[in-house]
Amino acid sequence: MLYIACMIYDFIIVGHGLAGAILAYTLRKKGYQVLVIDELAEHSASKVAAGLVNPVAGKRFAKSWMADTFIPAADAFYKELEEHFGQELYLHKPIYKIFSSIEEQNNWMAKSAGSDWSDYISETLVASAGEPGIQDPYGGILIRRGGHLLVREVLQLLEQEQLQAGQLLPERFDFSHLELTETGLRYKGEQARQLIFCEGYQVIHNPYFRWLPLQPTKGEVLEVKTDYKFISECIYNKAVYVLPKGDGAFRIGATYNWRQPDELPTHEGQQELTGRFTQITSHAFNVTNHWAGIRPAVRDRRPLVGSHPQHPQLLVFNGMGSKGVLMAPYLAERFAAALAGEADVLPEVNISRYFSLYYDYIKQ
Ligand SMILES: Cc1cc2nc3c(=O)[nH]c(=O)nc-3n(C[C@H](O)[C@H](O)[C@H](O)COP(=O)(O)OP(=O)(O)OC[C@H]3O[C@@H](n4cnc5c(N)ncnc54)[C@H](O)[C@@H]3O)c2cc1C
Repeated sequence: MLYIACMIYDFIIVGHGLAGAILAYTLRKKGYQVLVIDELAEHSASKVAAGLVNPVAGKRFAKSWMADTFIPAADAFYKELEEHFGQELYLHKPIYKIFSSIEEQNNWMAKSAGSDWSDYISETLVASAGEPGIQDPYGGILIRRGGHLLVREVLQLLEQEQLQAGQLLPERFDFSHLELTETGLRYKGEQARQLIFCEGYQVIHNPYFRWLPLQPTKGEVLEVKTDYKFISECIYNKAVYVLPKGDGAFRIGATYNWRQPDELPTHEGQQELTGRFTQITSHAFNVTNHWAGIRPAVRDRRPLVGSHPQHPQLLVFNGMGSKGVLMAPYLAERFAAALAGEADVLPEVNISRYFSLYYDYIKQ
């Protein structure tokens, strides 16, 4: 009798943006067989993201949520990727957060007094740093332990690796071919124990998970070119970030728009970003590129991780909002440990906090 051995995957992952790609890599490293399905769209959030990691967020100078946990995990993960692929992918750079007023300077002084920021702040400037053409009359803070990931390069390398292993289907996932079984699932002739959805904002179309409270948030970024050679190689931040890309090119971002759920660059977005850039620098510049994408943001600003309330073979790893680069490495490691039965899903991100929405949803 002839037996044909049929591969049963441990996991199928739908979506190979930052979330899916980092999770797939983490699971493969643990020895699991992983099949990835992605339609490889050009304008996913991950493909337009600048890749910034900033440990100090917003106008209120708050440390990013769980920065002390996420930053070391991100540093270690991206360093490992660099060793794995033999090229530089994560660039550590100081972030110069410019005070926009004397009030902001005072707020920071009050906030920083008495608490230890030495891990993240290397210097506070109360007057301009003196870079010609940079408008920082009230000074600012120099943030350390930030930087940026070359997201497109990372995704391309991981995509190539999955393709070469014959474990990436470059197509749109079609729910009509999904069959749930006693021990797992089948999809177009493939079998797996579990399926993890990492579809970014498109989870709003997923029949199993569309009850999750996602708030798709459009963002636009520009690439600009200036002839002026900046002395400092830092990332500037004042209402927008300005990321040096070399040769006088800068990435400027990003806008936030909850009302326009499409991936089209707009004139208003460009106006907003160029206006903010001119508040940082007086140098002339040309816009050379413009992109838009949709972030998978969540009502409570926490990611969405865990298994479906009724179908344990279906899971989700999503909701990274505007901080996928910072959060995905730790959350993927922790989720992989949970899937192996070695840890729990981090309670703050576990989708069980929204199960009441699911029970309301199925009553309709
Ligand atoms: C303008 C902008 C700037 C940003 N800047 C930063 C930044 O500087 N730093 C930072 O950390 N974050 C940033 N972000 C946020 C960051 O992009 C997200 O946190 C992160 O990329 C989310 O990754 P994801 O994999 O969950 O989603 P996505 O990147 O959207 O990936 C989802 C993937 O799933 C695929 N997919 C979906 N549905 C299907 C289906 N049915 N079949 C097949 N494939 C499917 C899509 O093709 C896509 O590849 C930015 C976002 C935007 C829009």
